[in-house]
Amino acid sequence: MQILDGKPAAQTIKEALQKKINSLPAGSRKPCLAAVLMGNNPASETYVASKIRNCQETGIESRMVKLPDDAEEKILLDEIARLNKDPQVDGILVQLPLPAHINETKVIELIDPDKDVDGFHPVNAGKLMLNEPGFVPATPYGIMLLLQHYQIETSGKHAVIIGRSNIVGRPMSVLLSQPGKQGNCTVTVCHSKTQNLATYTRQADIIVAAIGRPEFLKADMVKEGVIVIDVGINRVEDKTKKSGFALKGDVDFAGVSQKSAWISPVPGGVGLMTIAALLTNTYHAFEKRQSRN
Ligand code: NAP
Repeated sequence: MQILDGKPAAQTIKEALQKKINSLPAGSRKPCLAAVLMGNNPASETYVASKIRNCQETGIESRMVKLPDDAEEKILLDEIARLNKDPQVDGILVQLPLPAHINETKVIELIDPDKDVDGFHPVNAGKLMLNEPGFVPATPYGIMLLLQHYQIETSGKHAVIIGRSNIVGRPMSVLLSQPGKQGNCTVTVCHSKTQNLATYTRQADIIVAAIGRPEFLKADMVKEGVIVIDVGINRVEDKTKKSGFALKGDVDFAGVSQKSAWISPVPGGVGLMTIAALLTNTYHAFEKRQSRN
């Protein structure tokens, strides 16, 4: 069993970006990411803080827009409209989930597609479907970069994706079925209405688990030599930890790793790659905007 370790893979990407940013002409503007955080969901706060810290490490500037949990939707929409117009801002990310009174679709659709570094806007989703250049959602893009880093060729393999969300499962299914070294898969998408799910996962050469249920995928659900990508981030109560919780993936790592050729850990796998992909998207947004000026 070999580990799809996100740490060196993300570090390689970040160092390459840092090098590009350091070699920008003296006095020139740096790429800039604006993060919008609404409310005080502890997990969201942690994610945004980590994204901003990674921007700093890479030389990407960052802005933080923090809004209270009960702010009116119009305030959020006005902030996004302001960031869309701001010539200093290359990328906008709105940390999800948003409070229940906010219409998430309306918010996502207001972001300028050229600044949509999370790749959730319908224009970018459409480009992904058509295999045209655009912003690919950071988590599926990060998984593709992880496969690339470890030179895992997926051509002709059967990939089973568990989960069909717009931000992970569905785009992942498109990417793995596209032509390319890290593509060309035959893809099966499973979800909560799938019957006899294990009959699909047992046939899989590659499994992407994006479910949101701790240690859902067990050893008896996979075949020998499988490649497993664990997307799940689940907070499970753990009184032995200072924080009071432990992070668990959607895969029972102890059991499944015994049968895997490759497996990504949680933490230290897809989460780190998601951030590396977000930084890459931000740099591309910057490059594209600079080339227009
Ligand atoms: P989501 O929107 O809640 O989607 C979960 C998917 O899993 C749904 O399609 C759902 O099916 C399916 N599902 C739920 N229970 C199932 C079951 N018993 N059997 C089969 N399928 C089942 O979640 P998400 O946003 O895709 O995220 C999934 C996980 O990844 C979460 O743990 C999340 O925290 C994590 N995540 C991690 C990163 C990262 O950077 N590492 C990024 C994003 C998300 P239905 O569609 O039928 O309901």
